[in-house]
Amino acid sequence: MNSYKVVELLGDGIATELSTSIHRVAKSLPCELEFIQVDLSDEERIRRGAEVYDEAEKLMREHRVSIKYPTATTKDSPNRILRSRCQFAVIHRPVATIPGITTNFKRHLDIDIVRIATGGTYEDAGRRIGPDTAVSMRVISRGPSKHASRFAFKLAMVRGTGVVAASKYTIQQATDGLFDEVAHGVARDYPTIDFRSELFDALLANLIINPEKYGVIVVPNEYGDFLSDAACGLIGSIGLGDSASYAFDDEGEVILAMFDPSGGTAPDIAGQNLCNPTAALLALASLLRHVGELDASQALRSSIFAAIDEKRTTPDIGGTLSTTEFTEEVCNRFEKLTATA
Ligand code: ATP
Repeated sequence: MNSYKVVELLGDGIATELSTSIHRVAKSLPCELEFIQVDLSDEERIRRGAEVYDEAEKLMREHRVSIKYPTATTKDSPNRILRSRCQFAVIHRPVATIPGITTNFKRHLDIDIVRIATGGTYEDAGRRIGPDTAVSMRVISRGPSKHASRFAFKLAMVRGTGVVAASKYTIQQATDGLFDEVAHGVARDYPTIDFRSELFDALLANLIINPEKYGVIVVPNEYGDFLSDAACGLIGSIGLGDSASYAFDDEGEVILAMFDPSGGTAPDIAGQNLCNPTAALLALASLLRHVGELDASQALRSSIFAAIDEKRTTPDIGGTLSTTEFTEEVCNRFEKLTATA
């Protein structure tokens, strides 16, 4: 049985329940996950200060794969601090239609958004120049553009889809032009993968009209931010998805990966065995794919989606099950699927 060490970054609110759910599913896996915990709850961050981040960073660098639960942003933002300490350059956000979830958008969507995690307009809050005008700087760099593009192509190879690079390269000719040039350069290394550039505004319309034409989409930082939420709106939920952050070495190999549910800490329902662990379990499925356990990853996703489709889920999405019962439901389905595989 393959064995993997996973750094587990505990957080606030529903984080403990999500962790319990993950550990339960881990018991059903055909591989072993050894969790190394770091408590990033608000209480521990106040008590230990920078030391808690030193420990988290050291373990994350040593073991290279982590799972993180929601943390409250109070005095500091753990997400921002970890991003900067670990130099995460790419954020991956899978967004797929979840059967059984009511949506306004009725078409099937299954896309992977690969977003440059740094730069764009997000590094500079800007400044006023005179009473009626403000400016800010927009940054696009070759390194992160290359990491994101390579990551997108590798993902497309695994998924068997094409890659679309989306930006406003006709308007933002220097910045998005550089991003687009880098994406085209990387595309030359993957001649078998279907690749095209699209203007970001056109992509938003085309995605709604022809969602099946999209597999992996690579974008600069702010477009990735907009697209992630827009796509989640199409599948009817911002809170049910997962995301992953990656750091790379100079050769473009992933040296650090962190997987997390995209939702918040939900303090109003914490400790009541009510929270929906779907996003955390999808994060675990992405982690399994990353370490090479492709069948287990796929089986876990299918088990989660099948349970939701049959309304065997938590109250927030129309079911009647507790967190523990939903987790058992997923595990039972997963065990059946992997036993017959
Ligand atoms: P934070 O400040 O961490 O974002 P929040 O409560 O302001 O916390 P969310 O955590 O996103 O924001 O919660 C928004 C609403 O969605 C709350 O009513 C919460 O109970 C609900 N919610 C969030 N996550 C879940 C979940 N996993 N399962 C069920 N309900 C959830």
